Amino acid sequence: MEKCIFCKIADGEIPTATLYEDEDFRVILDLGPASKGHALILPKYHAANIYELPDELAGKAMILAKKMAVKMTEALKCDGFNIVQNNGETAGQTVFHFHMHLIPRYQGDGVGLTWTPGKLSDEEREEILAKIKA
Ligand code: 5GP
Ligand code: ZN
Repeated sequence: MEKCIFCKIADGEIPTATLYEDEDFRVILDLGPASKGHALILPKYHAANIYELPDELAGKAMILAKKMAVKMTEALKCDGFNIVQNNGETAGQTVFHFHMHLIPRYQGDGVGLTWTPGKLSDEEREEILAKIKA
């Protein structure tokens, strides 16, 4: 089967600016950065999204995200840090190989990751709790 673009990048088949690599992951600079230093954590294993990602890799990815956030914040002297992960077109996913966005934030950078808060109604709260809570 034809490998996807992020499989090729993660495996080193397509050369790219790499901030970190180990046996499971490659961390690369995003080609269309939201801010200076915007990077992506790519697992070398192909999972289209979080639903397909094995638990062990999910755990390792979060630990790596933390390490990269610390390192990048120190190195880039950013004022804040977003970790973003999109699943499905509706959620803004455009490349269907699981990845985590590491987005350094700078005061006044204008990066638009906000939303207008709604209001949680009693009815909706109860409906959601009934559907999801174990
Ligand atoms: P998504 O919208 O799927 O969460 O994020 C995909 C991200 O991958 C985007 O931020 C986009 O700029 C980045 N991207 C897409 N193709 C390439 C590529 O070939 N190389 C790199 N370094 N980044 C890419
Ligand atoms: Zn892939």
